[in-house]
Amino acid sequence: MTVREVHHRLGVGQSTLRNWMAVPDKIPESKRSCPRCHGCPLDGSAYAYLLGLYLGDGHIAHGRKGVFRLDIACCDDWPGLTEAAVQALAAVLPTNSVGQRQRTGCTIVNMTSKHWPCIFPQHGPGMKHTRAIVLKGWQDEIVSEFGEEFVRGLIHSDGCRAVNRVRRPLKGGDRWYEYPRYFFTNASDDIRELFTDTLDRLGIEWKRSNKRIISITKKEAVARLDEFVGPKY
Ligand SMILES: [Zn+2]
Repeated sequence: MTVREVHHRLGVGQSTLRNWMAVPDKIPESKRSCPRCHGCPLDGSAYAYLLGLYLGDGHIAHGRKGVFRLDIACCDDWPGLTEAAVQALAAVLPTNSVGQRQRTGCTIVNMTSKHWPCIFPQHGPGMKHTRAIVLKGWQDEIVSEFGEEFVRGLIHSDGCRAVNRVRRPLKGGDRWYEYPRYFFTNASDDIRELFTDTLDRLGIEWKRSNKRIISITKKEAVARLDEFVGPKY
């Protein structure tokens, strides 16, 4: 059967089928690690989260012999987020081991692989906001399916949940009201657009606070984000 026919019969994406067919038999199973080159299964939920982290605080460095290292900078104030980054890396490339380097106030969670540029094709020279950041079709499919995880990764890296406290004087004494809100700050127009497009798809209202900051302040929208993001931990 042709790729098209198999696609229609099984509902598996055509690009995925072509990847499976392209696996060279000469690569032993133990040497296969890449979801793109070797057709290894990819954990979509972990990938969407890691993509958010990568587009926020992630960096891919070119090492020796065609090996790349993905670094995710994690603030030591939130050990739960460091652990979430470790787990996402381990789920996306289970064949490789996760490393951690301590820096002042933060931990760099990292993993080396020859395949980071296949897994994150947005890798390129210079800062992310100086070049176009466009998702490939297969990444778009994953982000559409796991939009919440993608938004969670972006907010965990470049966003925050802040609480605005307001005092209201009343007869029986002052009362304090708390208004939680979310902010996402990124210098790249493309990355902010990926963030807001995904919020639109999830039906979460947002607004632009200034050129680089997107805010989510409406009560229902904040409640929706609280379901799958919440305060940093
Ligand atoms: Zn690869």
